[in-house]
Amino acid sequence: MPQKTEHTPMMVQYLGIKKQYPDAFLFYRLGDFYEMFNEDAIKASQLLEVTLTSRNRNAENPIPMCGVPYHAARGYIDVLIEKGFKVAICEQVEDPKTAKGMVKREVVQLITPGTAIESKNMDAKSNNYLAALSVTGTNQFNVAYADLSTGELKATQLTSVEEVINELSGLKTKEVVFEEAKEVELQTELQTKLGVMISTQQSSEENASLSYLTTEVENKEIFSAIKILLSYLTITQKRSLSHLQKAEVYIPEHFLKMDHYSKHNLELVSSIRTGQKKGTLLWLLDETKTAMGGRLLKQWIDRPLIQEQPIRERQDIVESLINHFFERTDLNEALTRVYDLERLAGRVAFGNVNGRDLLQLKTSLSQIPLLKQIIALINKGEWDNLMADLDHVPEVVELIERAVHLDASLSLKDGNVIKDGFDEQLDLYRDAMRNGKQWIAKLEAQERQKTGIKTLKIGYNRVFGYYIEITKSNLASLPEGLYERKQTLANAERFITPELKEKETLILEAEEKSLALEYDLFTKVRDEVKHYIDRLQLVAKTVATIDVLQSFTTISEKYHYVRPKLTYDSRELILKDGRHPVVEKVLGQQTYVPNSVEMDGQTEIMLITGPNMSGKSTYMRQLALTVIMAQMGCFVPAQSAQLPIFDRIFTRIGAADDLISGQSTFMVEMIEANQALRHATQHSLILFDEIGRGTATFDGMALAEAIIEYIHNHVHGKTLFSTHYHELTVLDQELKGLVNTHVGAIEEDGELIFLHKMLPGAADKSYGIHVAKLAGLPVDLLTRATIILERLEKKEEWVLEATVQETKETKKIVPQKNKTAEKEEQLSLFGLANEKEICIVKALAEINL
Ligand code: ADP
Repeated sequence: MPQKTEHTPMMVQYLGIKKQYPDAFLFYRLGDFYEMFNEDAIKASQLLEVTLTSRNRNAENPIPMCGVPYHAARGYIDVLIEKGFKVAICEQVEDPKTAKGMVKREVVQLITPGTAIESKNMDAKSNNYLAALSVTGTNQFNVAYADLSTGELKATQLTSVEEVINELSGLKTKEVVFEEAKEVELQTELQTKLGVMISTQQSSEENASLSYLTTEVENKEIFSAIKILLSYLTITQKRSLSHLQKAEVYIPEHFLKMDHYSKHNLELVSSIRTGQKKGTLLWLLDETKTAMGGRLLKQWIDRPLIQEQPIRERQDIVESLINHFFERTDLNEALTRVYDLERLAGRVAFGNVNGRDLLQLKTSLSQIPLLKQIIALINKGEWDNLMADLDHVPEVVELIERAVHLDASLSLKDGNVIKDGFDEQLDLYRDAMRNGKQWIAKLEAQERQKTGIKTLKIGYNRVFGYYIEITKSNLASLPEGLYERKQTLANAERFITPELKEKETLILEAEEKSLALEYDLFTKVRDEVKHYIDRLQLVAKTVATIDVLQSFTTISEKYHYVRPKLTYDSRELILKDGRHPVVEKVLGQQTYVPNSVEMDGQTEIMLITGPNMSGKSTYMRQLALTVIMAQMGCFVPAQSAQLPIFDRIFTRIGAADDLISGQSTFMVEMIEANQALRHATQHSLILFDEIGRGTATFDGMALAEAIIEYIHNHVHGKTLFSTHYHELTVLDQELKGLVNTHVGAIEEDGELIFLHKMLPGAADKSYGIHVAKLAGLPVDLLTRATIILERLEKKEEWVLEATVQETKETKKIVPQKNKTAEKEEQLSLFGLANEKEICIVKALAEINL
């Protein structure tokens, strides 16, 4: 009969703790290592590439084990978190020297993807948000989120799952907390669509002990999400979260809304092709000098404004900076010396701040008076609000100045963090340490003189400590009772004095005690700084704002942007010689062809026709980015700009994201079109790039036309609609709010030259075959395509007539698939080409031209 395994007391303790953290790697502290056992060990040894051993090698069922040294644990933890796991840190919580039996151990922190704050991989200019979600009724989705490293805490209420997905994907959340066993379907949906980790938490008043943070939140539903978030943070972090700011509840409608498709398509913060920052609006705009500024800029891009007043305030500041070049240079220089105040404050609260962090805090705060001086030189009122919040927290500067050593070591354990003169007791210890030997030597000399015994010496051994030794021959000269006898040797006597013993204790314990005292003092300093966290956070926010505004200024000046006039009431849109800021930066100002967008109050739809690769989608993106920049408060790339303030931007541009979602291009196209048609208002901007191209020609054309009519008759938002369906250009006769534009191109000796210039009216020809020629397709194939085109055009006229007939009869457009056209379309591509040509076409399709 197999014997039941008897576990050692240690394993019993381990298993007991592990049971409470089934979904985390348990880092169990054993001496200088964190050990993992069983399944944890097997998985971790693979993920971390560390050796798998076993606890009791010779037993029948050895326990798999692997470990990482505690001083190098950070890196290993990062790897696991990065891979989407949780790590529970289990420490010894009593001194092994004084413990009776097993040393008590406890999990002191549960690190998860959404609560990681120290990872080396964490971008200083990005936030790491943990979100929590509660559903409190039909269409009431409450979202709360916090960045544990900065203390930012926000909450809002959304009305649909799509909005939740938009919001969370904008935040780039890695982890979402739900109340236990609630909304399981939604959990799965978020997990698959956003790839986030789902955690669950029992929400309790007790856990959310930080409810004072939320006293200002009146909305009970939103509060429920905050409660889940705070409960989870309390349970996992098990420490002071005093740096969490008061929850800021916002209403999404107070900002320019863009769904995540649009943000993605417009490449606001990450490039469609590479996923990187390069080539995005963020990349263009980011001239921030501080990490806080970098993070705030991202937030502003994610949420441009829709109210005139705050936009104007930002513009005013940018303008004042543009007008003062020298002051701006000084300002930027001061900003570069400001460290990440927000995260430093977070570390103070979190209890993992070190001496150098405090010095950075001091250096940063010391720049504030300078910033104020510079701003005072240029302020004509527009800076008043920011100035008022520029607090250099002198109490903190003074304290750190007095307490922290300028060459403070990184680790508190090495000592030398607290300055001399800060604490009397510490000075005494240090004195004893440094001068111990000198002091003994002095005492020796002093006692020799006192007794007249030239051979008197002070020695040391482990058992008796320091002693005064006098040889037997000299004993007679020693006054009776001067010293206390301690030990008798063959030819000498050893003595002690209370003074010597006192000094001895001081010397021997000085080092140990000074380290402990330093630790205490440092904790006190840190706790004292903690009282100023609110003020530190406010100044951090203010510096971040100034930094973003100077970044706008730097960009605006560098690329010659202008201050746009924004109004909510007028529907006039006049962008004179606008440019796509990112393409312009890449191509250079000389190469880029500026284009105006002019739509008077009555014009709602601009129908853009032109050959492929001529610049249609660049033109549309140009407008979208200009609007976003303008509503962020930045200047815009144009000669002059007058823009209505938009409430939402809808786009259907590009197709790279379609692959990711697994939906067909056409389906995505229709989903996005649907979003726009249902939610757009007359204050919205709609950009539709070649809608309908994902399906058969007539099918697509019919849809495109119907969509245009629908926008024209029901939605009324400003719309740019590009199409290669030349037939649609006649719509301007029926729809009075529609104007035609086309991109100019000229043919020279059979070659096509793109002018990238928008011209009024409709384009007169499709240049598809010319583009194919440019791309280098075989001449035979191109000739053949020309013949087919002619044939199709003849047929098209015929079918189109039939469609129009039918439409007139039924008074509505019935999307219909035209079998002949579809068949021809496919034939034109593959039916006639030989295999080699098909290969070429396929290869071409994969190249990004
Ligand atoms: P379309 O949407 O018509 O197929 P794109 O907008 O994608 O064309 O533009 C094709 C290429 O032409 C872009 O990659 C860009 O490099 C260049 N381009 C577009 N607009 C301009 C412009 N205004 N000035 C210079 N180059 C441009």
